[in-house]
Amino acid sequence: MLKTRTAEVLNSPSAMQAWTDSKRAEGLRVAFVPTMGALHDGHLSLIRKAQEHADVVVASIFVNPTQFAPDEDFDSYPRAQDSDLEKLASAGCLAAYCPSIPDMYPDGETTRVVVEDLSFILEGEFRPHFFIGVATIVAKLFNHVRPDVAVFGQKDYQQLLIIRRMARDLGMPVDVIGAETIREKDGLALSSRNQYLSTDERAKAAGFAKALQVAADQIKHGTAISVALAECYSAIDAAGLGPIDYVAVRDASSLDDLGDGYLDAGVDARILAAAWMGKTRLIDNLPVTRT
Ligand code: AMP
Repeated sequence: MLKTRTAEVLNSPSAMQAWTDSKRAEGLRVAFVPTMGALHDGHLSLIRKAQEHADVVVASIFVNPTQFAPDEDFDSYPRAQDSDLEKLASAGCLAAYCPSIPDMYPDGETTRVVVEDLSFILEGEFRPHFFIGVATIVAKLFNHVRPDVAVFGQKDYQQLLIIRRMARDLGMPVDVIGAETIREKDGLALSSRNQYLSTDERAKAAGFAKALQVAADQIKHGTAISVALAECYSAIDAAGLGPIDYVAVRDASSLDDLGDGYLDAGVDARILAAAWMGKTRLIDNLPVTRT
């Protein structure tokens, strides 16, 4: 019987470090793709992007407890390690770093990485613990993997900016690269949490991405930001989502507020939003520029 090919599993920080050392000794550039598993085509597109920037790719699979609040879905978060390892191998990812919780959070640990300001707006207003957990785990993963380059999805746009800021501020020798969001045919951004949606919710969820796309197009063609946002709120509500945590148009590199008026030509902006579909929280964002 043909054995299914899977990525090599590295289970400890020392095994991970030795793997990177051996690749470096061969003169190879190492790319890293951190994930929480339950992999979909969005994750696999990051692997392919990573291959453009390095000779070998390692992904991590770790459901990070510190980025979940006590009332969030840490226990029920989908876990699918066997099929994840097959998917990684078929996308050309050589190794998967799968540490244990004590590997990442040794007994008595008290250290957290806080990227000030950026971590407490938009997503951070609704999930104030979230980016502290993310920055802390990614800093630890970078220490274990020591990659030349790391790839993050624009699907989590604020997260991408925060990791970039952290790497720059702390002088981490890694290039942080952003990769495009992969979507279903009807526009819904792929997400491991989409598995939580019922058939009816899944059908309605397409209205979320659609509303953002309409607002982005309106602003691009000269509609005032306040008008486009008001229509966007109504469209998300009419699609059956709610409550809506936020919909905002921000500067694409600083996430600074751009006011209510017309977007200036030449400014790269981003429309970002979070809303609930039943018990599932969806986030999404799109680029916005004025033509
Ligand atoms: P997660 O496993 O949800 O923590 O995501 C791991 C990485 O995959 C993050 O860098 C995400 O931004 C990225 N990602 C998640 N969904 C998508 C998507 N639909 N398209 C591209 N990248 C994604």
